[in-house]
Amino acid sequence: MSDTSVMLLKTNLKRLRLPTISAEFQALGREAAAANEGYERYLLRLTELEVAARQTNALKARIKQAGFPVHKDFDTYDFSAMPSLNKQKVLELARGEWIDQKFNCVLSGEPGTGKTHLAIAIGLAMCREGRRVRFFTAANLVTRLEEAQKQYQLDRLLTQLDKTDLLICDELGYLSFSRTGAELLFQVFADRYERASLLVTSNLPFSEWNQVFQGERMTAALLDRLTHHCHIFQMNGESYRFRESRKNPKKRTAPSKA
Ligand code: ADP
Ligand code: MG
Repeated sequence: MSDTSVMLLKTNLKRLRLPTISAEFQALGREAAAANEGYERYLLRLTELEVAARQTNALKARIKQAGFPVHKDFDTYDFSAMPSLNKQKVLELARGEWIDQKFNCVLSGEPGTGKTHLAIAIGLAMCREGRRVRFFTAANLVTRLEEAQKQYQLDRLLTQLDKTDLLICDELGYLSFSRTGAELLFQVFADRYERASLLVTSNLPFSEWNQVFQGERMTAALLDRLTHHCHIFQMNGESYRFRESRKNPKKRTAPSKA
């Protein structure tokens, strides 16, 4: 093919937004000619590359959009360290049927038991399933909601949250909120009831959630909705961090002399 034809083809592929085909058609063309491959087979291979690249990019974008604080997956979670946890049931969550059913999930237990780890692993699995996920710590989400309200942007933020298939709210219970903050978080949770899934992790048992939401009535109303269709996992046991640091005492960092 002449240089002009190559240029024209590249321009067309750019217009059609087919960057992978544009990058690969010449090399693949040479391979096809050497292997005496037919035109249709060549076209199939080229389009397969474009489709694969798009899927990879879309997944990357979904993971970025989710805002996970770190990368954690099931393969690095040692289920034997948490024998009371039903591994099968946790792995079932990774298949995502509960998201279609608009179910919720609560991971509850003491610090260091892997709640955040599993919340991220589940979130990642949902991204791979093509679903939209957002990860926030409870404190972060409340701050975002309060800021948005101050700047008259609350509707916008609520619409964004509404578009997610799974909203992860990590570390509920470490900090209590202002009355407004608690009400805003309540609104987000209540809005999702039977419409979209929520995954909450908390170090507090349900009986103590009123410390966060300030008031028995709001807490009762919230728990009623949250737990109606919900997979609840109790993660009680020794902190994994503590266990690891005891195993490797040399790795333990000395307390700073501040
Ligand atoms: P939590 O959110 O319950 O406080 P994290 O998920 O933050 O606990 O876990 C603390 C650290 O220990 C993280 O680095 C996490 O990856 C690790 N961890 C916790 N439990 C396990 C486990 N069962 N297997 C492997 N790593 C674990
Ligand atoms: Mg955590």
